Amino acid sequence: MKTPNALLAATGTTIFTVMSALASQHRSINLGQGFPDTEGPADVLHAAAGALLDGRNQYPPMTGAPELRQAVAAANARFYGLSVDPDREVVVTSGATEAITACLMALLDPGDEVVLIEPLYDTYLPVVRLLGAVPRLVRLTPPRWELPRADLAAAFGPKTKALLLNTPMNPTGKVFTAAELAFIAELLQRHDAWAVCDEVYEHLTFDGWRHIPLMTLSGLRERCLRIGSAGKTFSLTGWKVGYVTAPAAIAGIVAKAHQNLTFTTPPNLQRAVAVGLAKDDAYFAALAAELAEKRDRLSAGLAGIGMAVLPVMGSYFVTAGYAPLGFAGDDVAFCRHITEQAGVTAIPLSAFYAGEAPRHYARFAFCKRPEVLDEAVSRLARHFAERRGVELTGTG
Ligand code: PMP
Ligand code: GLN
Repeated sequence: MKTPNALLAATGTTIFTVMSALASQHRSINLGQGFPDTEGPADVLHAAAGALLDGRNQYPPMTGAPELRQAVAAANARFYGLSVDPDREVVVTSGATEAITACLMALLDPGDEVVLIEPLYDTYLPVVRLLGAVPRLVRLTPPRWELPRADLAAAFGPKTKALLLNTPMNPTGKVFTAAELAFIAELLQRHDAWAVCDEVYEHLTFDGWRHIPLMTLSGLRERCLRIGSAGKTFSLTGWKVGYVTAPAAIAGIVAKAHQNLTFTTPPNLQRAVAVGLAKDDAYFAALAAELAEKRDRLSAGLAGIGMAVLPVMGSYFVTAGYAPLGFAGDDVAFCRHITEQAGVTAIPLSAFYAGEAPRHYARFAFCKRPEVLDEAVSRLARHFAERRGVELTGTG
């Protein structure tokens, strides 16, 4: 038999699926894969149910239901002052995952270079490589995750076609600052490069941190492909409705990619997401405020048992160092250990790196009910107290 595609054959199952399966096998509290454990807003759910029954269940327009394209354009204007043509500058996709792939397909030819920032979301690298493009990796370092400006500048060159930027950032919880974005903008312009902007956590920022789309910076409106996700904005991660906002010429090419990937996205979900995007400002404020409380609760709990908890400005995730707990193994061993022995699951941070990675951090999702977060912390507290007890007895 001839061999299948070498890159895909060599790609492992995503860490999120691996850890969720391990969590259910051990009935542990799953703070690994990032999904809320509450339902999304009732009006959005009812809109989806209603739309399912009113007879528009055949293929919607390829670039998206008009209601949703208009709602995406209106949200761009309301939140960021961007003026967007709903007919020519918006493409609806089946999740941000498809949007990322479609945008990269739209931009890249084999041999093009793409600047990526580690730690990175797990679909970026395999897709860049499948397209025959060449990743140029730049690395942020814990605990501060500051943009290493000289490294970033050095990663750009004559072959750079695009930068892929994720802010607010998974897994670090970093929100890129205005100064960092300005530095990036200058590089993009100097090298005549595009930016694919993964902004799925755009509404999930805390403590007065505001998400600034790179697209809003001077001179960048024409260079950015901005990606949003209804899954994150409405706490409905299973829906897989994403949207790309981009200049008309490139949006047309993104649509060609979408045409070959999925062609369309379920029409009732699109129409319900349009209802969601029109919700008042109070909804978006409450979404972030509730998550901030959950972040505080989990961060305080993990710090209380001695973990080195890093600051989080946005997203669903907190990163915590476990070395103070006295666990000597690497992060993969740690996440497996707490799943099996403590009944709590997290994601090893090294999963977000291509090569050598920091090896003593785990990522915990805090988008869970307060009692679930509390129970997770008390399980970890109990487990590590017992473990220390055993060690003390053992040596004593
Ligand atoms: N990008 C990032 C950074 C994410 O964390 C996620 C999480 N799911 C996605 C993209 C994919 O979003 P979607 O579920 O809409 O495909
Ligand atoms: N984005 C989610 C996370 O980082 C997972 C999405 C997925 O499982 N593919 O946890």
